[in-house]
Amino acid sequence: MNAPFDERVTQYYAALARSRDPACDPIAAQFVPQTGETLLDAAETDDPLQDRGYAPVDRLVHRYPDRALILATDRCAVYCRHCFRRHFTERGSGAITEEQLNAIVAYLARQPQVTELLLSGGDPLMLEPDRLESVLERLYSVNPAYIVRVCTRVPVVMPSRIGERLAAALGLRGGLWLVTQVNHPHELTPEFAVALRRLQRHGVPVLNQSVLLRGVNDSLETLVALFRGLLQLRVKPYYLFQADLAAGTRHLRVSIEEGLELMRKLRTRVSGPALPVYALDQPGAGGKLNLEIAFQGVEGESYLLRDGEGREYRYPRELPSAAYLASIS
Ligand code: SF4
Repeated sequence: MNAPFDERVTQYYAALARSRDPACDPIAAQFVPQTGETLLDAAETDDPLQDRGYAPVDRLVHRYPDRALILATDRCAVYCRHCFRRHFTERGSGAITEEQLNAIVAYLARQPQVTELLLSGGDPLMLEPDRLESVLERLYSVNPAYIVRVCTRVPVVMPSRIGERLAAALGLRGGLWLVTQVNHPHELTPEFAVALRRLQRHGVPVLNQSVLLRGVNDSLETLVALFRGLLQLRVKPYYLFQADLAAGTRHLRVSIEEGLELMRKLRTRVSGPALPVYALDQPGAGGKLNLEIAFQGVEGESYLLRDGEGREYRYPRELPSAAYLASIS
């Protein structure tokens, strides 16, 4: 299924765009529907990470032995045009129910090897603070030592939602990390900084996962400003993701050759703490692949990748931009 998302955006985030033309503005490119979304590539799907194949109970994805992902709600404050979880996001299933939570808790109780939980969606911070706190408490009732990562764009697209109550709910336990997604330095606003400080005051550490996107952040100067700006706000740039093969997103993807070249240049421009890992989610690889290590070359229409165990994968190649090809010829 590839019904493209409708447009959904907060007033705050829309106001960050200096033009509504996605070709002219890196914020608009992330929320304004584009004609490229109706063009389907053969390798694309609405579930590129194969969540549905790893779901032993509703709303729980168990892909790696020690980690489980919980889909807390299908709602988001903004629908990102590059979203990879389009089989679930905004599909009408709403917030997690008590019955679904009971089944998840029962499942986790039978999986003592799980030490880490990821709360995702949709956007888990679209839950009301009381509900979020009660979901977290139910999960901690299985194992109070769980490390929990809450994956959210709310601080970026709706920072006013990070009130005292929400920050306090997140700060209740020591092993909880917030993982946000800032993709462009224009998103590093005073409002974002206020939300971060509130989280930090409540003892919540924040990591950032950016997605490498054509027309948004595929330039060296943009990435330097983004990663330095994050570090300035005490946010660790954690991953720079190669965009997944999500249906209708080819126009947003950057070739791995260009991503590797950007990383090579970034190393000469930013310090170690500001440098993220350039990574790809390869279903079946047992974890994310660090592309600076895994990339073995190009074979015809594919990239050849190798994981830490020496297993090889072929991944559909993106066509590099004309500008990149001209720069290496
Ligand atoms: S906030 Fe996350 S889940 Fe929601 S649309 Fe954006 S990328 Fe997808």
